[in-house]
Amino acid sequence: MAGENFQQLYRNLPLELGIDKDTCGVFRYQVECTGNAVNKGGTTKPRSLFLGMGVFCMEKNKVGDKMAKKNKQFVEKITAMEEDFAQWYTDVVKQADLVDYGPVRGSMIIRPYGYAIWENIRDILDAKIKETGHENMYFPLFIPESMLQKEKDHIEGFAPEVAWVTHGGDEELQERLVVRPTSEVLFAEHYGKIIHSYRDLPKLYNQWSNVVRWEKTTRPFLRSLEFLWQEGHTCHATDEDAAEETRQMLDVYASLFEDYMAIPVLKGRKTAKEKFAGAKYTLTIESLMHDGKALQAGTSHHLGTGFAEAFDIRFSDEAGELQPVHQTSWGFTTRSIGAMIMVHGDNRGLVIPPKIASKQVMIVPVAQHKEGVLDKAYQLKTRLSDIARVDIDASDKSPGWKFNEYEMKGIPIRLEIGPKDIEQGHAVLVRRDTGEKIFAAMEDLETKILELLEDIQINLFEKAKNHREDKTSIAKTMTEFKNSLENNPGFIKAMWCGEQTCEEKIKEETSATSRCIPFEQEKVSDTCVYCSKPAQQQVYWAKAY
Ligand SMILES: [Zn+2]
Repeated sequence: MAGENFQQLYRNLPLELGIDKDTCGVFRYQVECTGNAVNKGGTTKPRSLFLGMGVFCMEKNKVGDKMAKKNKQFVEKITAMEEDFAQWYTDVVKQADLVDYGPVRGSMIIRPYGYAIWENIRDILDAKIKETGHENMYFPLFIPESMLQKEKDHIEGFAPEVAWVTHGGDEELQERLVVRPTSEVLFAEHYGKIIHSYRDLPKLYNQWSNVVRWEKTTRPFLRSLEFLWQEGHTCHATDEDAAEETRQMLDVYASLFEDYMAIPVLKGRKTAKEKFAGAKYTLTIESLMHDGKALQAGTSHHLGTGFAEAFDIRFSDEAGELQPVHQTSWGFTTRSIGAMIMVHGDNRGLVIPPKIASKQVMIVPVAQHKEGVLDKAYQLKTRLSDIARVDIDASDKSPGWKFNEYEMKGIPIRLEIGPKDIEQGHAVLVRRDTGEKIFAAMEDLETKILELLEDIQINLFEKAKNHREDKTSIAKTMTEFKNSLENNPGFIKAMWCGEQTCEEKIKEETSATSRCIPFEQEKVSDTCVYCSKPAQQQVYWAKAY
């Protein structure tokens, strides 16, 4: 049977079979059929290969048990997250069409749907970066080896994961080049050339680019050989100014995560062990994924004067004295998309917060072959495009297929419109986050959709926050620490003496790392959770991505 005829036949199958579309699913499949498929005239089809789509009913199986069982496997293309979270993640990024694997191990192709989400996040952040007085510029991809060597801690931190260029065409290069893993040294060298006087300060530059880190284990968005990001690099006259900038940009990241991506974050400082290579200190925002693992969502570094000394970035102050500049750097990456997937996603696929969704409303015409349905659906698209990012799927795929597809893609609202709806003067709105169905009168659609988008945004944040709170424990002893990791994995609040050896021992014994020393300290006991000596600080610990 030709694919086209088959689709034609199956498009209205739920209606033809008298199945309520709420209790059935339509799926794409390739299956060798041995005689139980329903053919148009009610006859069976002899052994043959089917490519196309079909319907199964969850409740009263009117299609036939055997077929339904077989078909169920095709519907369950996503592994349940409770079963295998890592596999669930991989299934979702592939099935929702966010990425494909690149030809080199560990590299990823960001597909249009994934890239559109990145563009939205990028545009929001870019506006905030500019609002806070920064300018965008662009640096080259290659760094000479000798330049990277100039700051000792920095090269030590990055050496294991840099990619080297050794040849240009057929010729071996006199000096090896590094493909930028980050651009501190490029900025530093440039700043050395352009900063002379206190009048040149501050310098507030940012670049949007790609970077390469030769990671051993990779996963799309979370850890890949190449990723997209922005890196801000600034120079200031005083340590205080640099400190203020470091904190300001952390707050910008936190707002992006909480107010737009609906992901609650903990703000704090990294321990010396976990700070950025070459930094005086690193501030971080940490988020908690659905499986109880933490993810570093963004970092902002106070670089002190280390790079200024190494690269001779000095300015004459008002008294004419030469001083090194105080620097910061801060970065936000495509990793954030991984966080969004793992915080909001469910067993039906992605759930995208409305503010960053490239499509906020997907219109699905029902029984679109009937007169007037498509016209009405297109009218709605034009009308609603004034208030939201709206798309329509008027392809000849069945409504059920489309329902599954756009749930998988995490589009916040689905709008269904069919002959009955038109007759009754309403449209059906379905929320992706709760599955709730709302009948909205045609004249109220704008108000209702805006209300729903806002409500979904808030609900996603609240849900994620509650989840994080449920998954945050207090540990006063290592026994409690290990119990929490075992029975309720998530953040652990515990006291720390400040000694790196305790931090290392905890990692060795539990594989949990210190995530941050939160700005909002809570004294949960008097002594270090590991060594029982007097505690200095409260730290959040967790297993992390
Ligand atoms: Zn200790």
